Amino acid sequence: MPPIKIDPALHQARKPEWLKVRLPSNPVFFSTKALISDLKLHTVCESAQCPNRWECWSLGTATFMIAGDRCTRACGFCAVATAKPFPLDPDEPERVAEAAMRMKVRHAVITAVARDDLPDGGAEHFAQTIEALRRRKPDMVIEVLVPDFNGKEAALRTVLDAAPHVFNHNIETVERLTPLVRSRAKYRLSLDVLRRAGVMAPGITTKSGLMLGLGEKENEIFQAMDDLREHGVGVLTIGQYLRPSPKHLPVVEYIAPEVFDLYGEIARKKGFVHVSSGPLVRSSYHAGDFDPLKLKKPGA
Ligand code: SF4
Repeated sequence: MPPIKIDPALHQARKPEWLKVRLPSNPVFFSTKALISDLKLHTVCESAQCPNRWECWSLGTATFMIAGDRCTRACGFCAVATAKPFPLDPDEPERVAEAAMRMKVRHAVITAVARDDLPDGGAEHFAQTIEALRRRKPDMVIEVLVPDFNGKEAALRTVLDAAPHVFNHNIETVERLTPLVRSRAKYRLSLDVLRRAGVMAPGITTKSGLMLGLGEKENEIFQAMDDLREHGVGVLTIGQYLRPSPKHLPVVEYIAPEVFDLYGEIARKKGFVHVSSGPLVRSSYHAGDFDPLKLKKPGA
């Protein structure tokens, strides 16, 4: 593909207007917050300081983060606390299912901290949560946003045997920046995990996400898109990296909404069946806009 000419004025160094978020005034926001707290659940919305939590919680959606709120990795972009995790809470899958029912969730997104301390990386806990959700509402669309499980086949098998509809694993950034951005994660391993998920569970949709603004070059972004397509990934999210605190990686540039639109268009042309691209897009942002049950299967 020839290089795309983007006006340099569309790349900015200071936090721009379009990243300002509205504070909540909607009663649904407060009921979502109370429900999550009553059921003693964690969400990545809070733990990762997601800028969309006012909007998503006001719409009665949230992304549940299972297996505790202490992560065994220390990625340079992520606000989730790094610490020795607590033992798994065996009742948590049922409480997640209870919350999803009370919130009338149609498309549930479940993620987890990386649990490198556990032999299966927390895969069985994912499976139990998927099963609890499905028991309560068999037609719920279930999306899991998983860590790389260090590439362990058995862990992948455990999650896939529970039959989520969407298997999401973020590559987060381009290959060159991966060692800087993602602690203990490897770009090629993540691609391989996505490819194997698609092979092991042929009916599943695989999904991944990129954060921009970390210093990646345009040709590297397009290469990452090509790599994902070559590994069978069907859904892509592209958003702006925001620095959670001065201890985290700095933002190299703020990219304008028009450029995100352009990247979205290019990604669609490369064959992704669904793309969300915008400054505030996150992995689970409006996840329900993509319905894997309506996906036309090859040859259909
Ligand atoms: S985008 Fe995802 S993580 Fe952020 S608030 Fe919405 S549901 Fe939560």
